[in-house]
Amino acid sequence: MNSTIDTSRALFARHAWLPEGWRENVLLEWTTGGSLARVTSGLAQPPAGVTHAAGPLMPGMPNLHSHAFQRAMAGLTEYRANPTDSFWSWRDLMYRFAALVTPDDLGAIARWLYAEMLKAGYTSVCEFHYVHHAQDGQRYASPAELAQRVVAAAGETGIGMTMLPVLYQYSGFGARAPRDDQRRFINTPEQLLGIVDALRAWRPEHGALRYGVAPHSLRAVSRDSLRALLEGLNAISPSAPVHIHIAEQTAEVDACLETEGARPVQWLLDRFDVNARWCLVHATHIDTNETAALARSGAIAGLCLTTEANLGDGIFPAHDYLDAGGAFGVGSDSHIGVDWRAELRLLEYGQRLVRRERNVLASTHETHVADRLFGAALRGGARATGRATGALETGARADFVVLDPQHPNLAEQPARTWLSSVVFCEHGETPVLDVYTGGERVVQARRHRDEARLYADYRAALSRLLANA
Ligand code: ZN
Repeated sequence: MNSTIDTSRALFARHAWLPEGWRENVLLEWTTGGSLARVTSGLAQPPAGVTHAAGPLMPGMPNLHSHAFQRAMAGLTEYRANPTDSFWSWRDLMYRFAALVTPDDLGAIARWLYAEMLKAGYTSVCEFHYVHHAQDGQRYASPAELAQRVVAAAGETGIGMTMLPVLYQYSGFGARAPRDDQRRFINTPEQLLGIVDALRAWRPEHGALRYGVAPHSLRAVSRDSLRALLEGLNAISPSAPVHIHIAEQTAEVDACLETEGARPVQWLLDRFDVNARWCLVHATHIDTNETAALARSGAIAGLCLTTEANLGDGIFPAHDYLDAGGAFGVGSDSHIGVDWRAELRLLEYGQRLVRRERNVLASTHETHVADRLFGAALRGGARATGRATGALETGARADFVVLDPQHPNLAEQPARTWLSSVVFCEHGETPVLDVYTGGERVVQARRHRDEARLYADYRAALSRLLANA
């Protein structure tokens, strides 16, 4: 067998997390295109000439929700501006920031953010991209200019990308005219589909790149424009992912009830064929019926726990949703933190605090909370990307992380509790040591391969932005 191994595209690990859990003596082999050609476990001995991973291997986590430019605002809105500060007052500040960002700024912010994601063990990102136009609201000469900067940033840093240009048309239910501070976001369905077409012509899809669309929210589109968008998308690619912000705020649920006569998730499920290609981001406020119906639909619930906590959104009914067989993945959204471990931890902790119980999201089949949530977030997150990733199996991208076996939370422990420690313990540096995407090592010993340059560019962009703020 050794003679058939191309050792330049292979890695041996004493332990690797395969779809069935931790397995020993595992050999990964991948193609020149960066997809896993063969995953073999239980080898009697390591094949000659193949590099040994420094520690246990796990699939990289897909990040299913990102607004890249918001990374540069992290930490800047954590003070009381008025006694009723809320998501909506935060949004005003975010809009002011969005108004300032130039194409160069966006590229620099996205490159640094994606390096941070890779270092945290996120190997794919779904970019919910809604800043399309120049600062005065005029379209750029290339209407996809800003989306191109983001896609290019992913290519440069090595993270897998699902670009979701956002349809934003209205400022509220009932097709209310957009506000002036939304001028950089606004398109018709036809214009938005034009951006998708332009992107596909500029950089066609490949193993690490996929395109879809994102109707921003039910506030920002109408039934007719959503239908036109989906029909246009189906003509391009009937399996392309569709993401939407759905029920992040109670005010949004109330407005939907008032103007449309139904709660947002119910409204969407009743009127559109919501299935496994859909990702409903922030399905935070759902009632019992919606919880069961969303789980049945096969759509992914896009959970962004650190952002939802930071913005005071509310708590998603995770226990009931998982009980009903619902699929989910996690995203870093506003990037107040960029670490899937924190997202999974907070998912469980929200339930513990509400229910005053422990190990709420374990199941009879999977008693270790972290293992259950990790496996589910890999599957759901991968589906939300519309790409083959999130598993160490033949045909998937060779997207994986190497854990540090010397880390105080892993050393001396049995493999059975590694994931529990990785997710729930927070002591010093991350246990994620090396990161590979498409079989290429992009993070080594906790540093991105272009770390110094990307950080310098980010600082320069942030300095410009804050000087103009
Ligand atoms: Zn969002």
